[in-house]
Amino acid sequence: MKHHILIAGGGIGGMAAALALLNLGHDVDVYEQAPELKEFGAGVQISPNGTRALHALGVLDALRPLSCDTQRKEIRLWNTGRSWKLFDLGAEAIERYGFPYVTVFRPDLLKLLHDAVVARKPGAIHLGRRAVGVTQQDGRVTLMLEGSEMVHGDALIGADGVHSRIRHCVFGGDKPRFYGMIAWRGVIPMERVPREISRDKATNWIGVGGHVVHYPLRAGALMNFVGIMERSDWCLESWTERGTAQECMNDHRGWHKDVQALIAAAPELFKWALMGRDPLPRWTHEHVTLLGDACHPTLPMLAQGAVMAIEDAVILGRCFDKYGDVATALARYQDARIEVTTRKVIGANDNAVRFHNPALATEAGATAYVDREWSRDAIIRRYEWIFTYDVEAVAI
Ligand SMILES: Cc1cc2nc3c(=O)[nH]c(=O)nc-3n(C[C@H](O)[C@H](O)[C@H](O)COP(=O)(O)OP(=O)(O)OC[C@H]3O[C@@H](n4cnc5c(N)ncnc54)[C@H](O)[C@@H]3O)c2cc1C
Repeated sequence: MKHHILIAGGGIGGMAAALALLNLGHDVDVYEQAPELKEFGAGVQISPNGTRALHALGVLDALRPLSCDTQRKEIRLWNTGRSWKLFDLGAEAIERYGFPYVTVFRPDLLKLLHDAVVARKPGAIHLGRRAVGVTQQDGRVTLMLEGSEMVHGDALIGADGVHSRIRHCVFGGDKPRFYGMIAWRGVIPMERVPREISRDKATNWIGVGGHVVHYPLRAGALMNFVGIMERSDWCLESWTERGTAQECMNDHRGWHKDVQALIAAAPELFKWALMGRDPLPRWTHEHVTLLGDACHPTLPMLAQGAVMAIEDAVILGRCFDKYGDVATALARYQDARIEVTTRKVIGANDNAVRFHNPALATEAGATAYVDREWSRDAIIRRYEWIFTYDVEAVAI
């Protein structure tokens, strides 16, 4: 049975959902508030469970030339620069999980999903249309858009991000919690990155009160920089708020020269306050459901927010395919996803404490701490269940 499905929000999650549903022959319309489709210029890591989901959507092959296969993940100590191998990626990820671990420039991923959606339905994406309300009656959903326009469908997917209007309308308002951390973000042309900084790895610097992540993007043309620092004096959540190199340097005072060199090389730096919400006990109500950050916003410390949104999309499609009835499909989608996404949100919170730990103040303390927290067993316990999650095989 084919349905007409409305999606509020055209970010990575909304586009992935549109593609999953169009692939199965449903009719889809996406309403995105932005007047033009634009992703923030930053990187995103897609672990093997995420590339498996992109493969299921039919876009992984097109993504490969635009992404980087990082060869391994390493951790480095914030002040001395001492490094430890976290795990091998590259060929080993493909051998172990069947799919690669890639790093991608967000605008490239969004454009790829967008192009795949419009190839299947040219008029599917409606820009400059902000969702403001929703009602449902007799198995039909009405989405209200700013300017009094109303559109109707058989189901509504709220993929409208951490400040979701659909979540607010259907499940009530709650206040996002400020985690007391800000993320500094920059994308650096690779020719400006000092030679001694490795280009084929994802590096995770861990320290007291902060951590830094960098990895290559766009077939090695760019380096992504993220510095997450504990700071309670500033709490604006925005992808476009600029900061100065001086302020960023101040936040990384005492950090290794490689970190300072990356900050100095960044053409521009943005700062973003990390906000979150407690996991929801449910996110489907009859013919309306949520997807991605709208239902399970997360700290970035497990690098799974966008991956979860893409996985949600594939599972949502499978549920529509298996259960003809909309309410059943949306209920089963929620049931299939809620436990695994809640576990990841909690895992990311745990990593925040792990990455910013007082034990890392001295090299001796750090050695014992890293040996314990990043032992092979500990890594397998924390990551294996994530990387082996198979969107096409999990029970729905
Ligand atoms: C510093 C940092 C690093 C990260 N690194 C990673 C990583 O390495 N790997 C990973 O998997 N994840 C990562 N994430 C998380 C990831 O960015 C998010 O989880 C992901 O973008 C969520 O996608 P989404 O489509 O659900 O929401 P969004 O990307 O927020 O998209 C929501 C869309 O809805 C639109 N919208 C909002 N309100 C309305 C409305 N009322 N009407 C219509 N449209 C609306 C918005 O304009 C937007 O286009 C990171 C996040 C941060 C902050």
